[in-house]
Amino acid sequence: MLSTLIYRSRLSVEVALDVLEQVVARAKVNNEKINVTGILLFDGEHFFQVLEGSVESVNAVYDRISKDTRHYNLVELLRDYAPSRRFGNAGMELFDLRCYDKASVLQAVLAKGTSQYALTYDDRVLKFIRTFVAGNNKEAFINTGSSSRWDLIQQPAVAPQKSRFMQKDQACQFALQPIVDVANREIISFEALIRSAEGGSPATYFASLSKDQLYQADVESKRTAFALAKHIGLVNQTLSVNLLPMSLVMNKGAVDFLLEEIKFHGLVPEQVVVEVTEDEVISRFDEFEIAINQLRSAGIGLAIDDFGAGFAGLSLLAQFQPEKIKIDRNIICDVHKSGPKQAIVQAMIKCCSLLEISVIAEGVEKIEEWLWLEAAGIRYFQGFLFARPQLNGLPAVNWPEKKKRA
Ligand code: C2E
Ligand code: MN
Ligand code: MN
Repeated sequence: MLSTLIYRSRLSVEVALDVLEQVVARAKVNNEKINVTGILLFDGEHFFQVLEGSVESVNAVYDRISKDTRHYNLVELLRDYAPSRRFGNAGMELFDLRCYDKASVLQAVLAKGTSQYALTYDDRVLKFIRTFVAGNNKEAFINTGSSSRWDLIQQPAVAPQKSRFMQKDQACQFALQPIVDVANREIISFEALIRSAEGGSPATYFASLSKDQLYQADVESKRTAFALAKHIGLVNQTLSVNLLPMSLVMNKGAVDFLLEEIKFHGLVPEQVVVEVTEDEVISRFDEFEIAINQLRSAGIGLAIDDFGAGFAGLSLLAQFQPEKIKIDRNIICDVHKSGPKQAIVQAMIKCCSLLEISVIAEGVEKIEEWLWLEAAGIRYFQGFLFARPQLNGLPAVNWPEKKKRA
């Protein structure tokens, strides 16, 4: 099958243009051998390339291109299939947009086209080309610089690890993972993640319960989370706890129970954030709304967890607006390399800014992901890059720090 790939990247400063032309000439020979065609545009700062060929050949070429240090911030914009090549002339040449005047540049680019039919206006490949040639949407081109300029500096947990935390008859345990404001080097919240009595995953813990025990156990487990928060002396941070939305709906006294336990453990409701995932909310929204109104009137905060993972997403957000949304890990993963993910995250940031909702990026594992997200305007992060959850205690945090130039 004939596949198409479009990516965009940024020229590394050190490279002279004549060197570039030599590189492209060499690449052209290699591309011809495996029958990869396309077009490479350059605007003086960014590259934009369309690659066409078999899936394997296009992947091989893109792989090689990705490793080239003469450009960086590679973002894959499109992957698609097509009945025929749009730029079928053998090899690939560097097309410098600066050598043409505004009025004729698009025609000059399209003149390289070999498509049997004229490129149609609905063709996304053509639309991407037109936008790049016109220099539109450039505000979305985020320059993060190189990740090699950053180190991670480990800072041990602030609170002393006191005696081991264990209550009598404890049916479950909790692990704590920080949510961080990197720019200010602050931990803003600890998320309490449930573990079985033996330290097993949430899935293991919930699997040991029957369907009717589930919701009650979910609510009651929070007593242990609040006790852990008290044990570590939580003062300046909030405690985020997860609840199935149905746990609030099925237990009529759930909110009162939570409020009592919060008070009993010396916390205040404003210190607690309840995280719910979108999935279950939407099916019984009316009942859920009663529960969240109770939480809100008591002062407890609300966050939509795993936003973007389920089917409700935007329609849930249209119905109710929490203080925070946490962008799902699948959207965060490799966001620095993916055009579609970047477009989605940028739209979420814009939408949440208009609604005064804080955005947290979840599951950040790579420094490149954090660099992109931070540059895009996200302030709060959670993920293994910063800290893994720690059972019954506070983990040390890794803070990114710019290397001092030698
Ligand atoms: P969640 O609320 O989205 O919690 C984040 C999960 O992602 C945690 O998994 C955490 O360990 C993991 N995680 C954090 N950073 C990273 C990262 O950088 N990479 C990767 N790969 N994973 C990361 P965990 O502890 O296994 O929890 C899984 C889910 O179980 C939670 O997802 C939450 O939906 C649910 N859960 C946890 N505690 C409770 C609870 O008390 N009640 C209910 N109803 N659900 C809970
Ligand atoms: Mn959560
Ligand atoms: Mn989540």
